Amino acid sequence: MSGEINHAVNGAGTDAEARPQTLDAWFLDLLACPACPQHLPLHLVPLGEDGKTLNCQCGRYAFPVRDGLPILLVEEAALINPDATPDAVTAHPAES
Ligand SMILES: [Zn+2]
Repeated sequence: MSGEINHAVNGAGTDAEARPQTLDAWFLDLLACPACPQHLPLHLVPLGEDGKTLNCQCGRYAFPVRDGLPILLVEEAALINPDATPDAVTAHPAES
């Protein structure tokens, strides 16, 4: 047996079953995307069987939720749509 520590990347553990974590709406309301200049609100999206992720309203980043705690770090976020530019929402497209 040369098995090293196998990090549970899937979060498959018995502890996760015992204590279901939920994020309340009022708590979600306090959260804002740290990557957006406008600090857009985040939406809780189910991910897999037990996982959750917080998608920014700009559609660019998805922030992980670990043990019921949202990880609002840009370096931890998944870039789900690099083309989504929150700046473009307010910017005037220059049409000629
Ligand atoms: Zn964002």
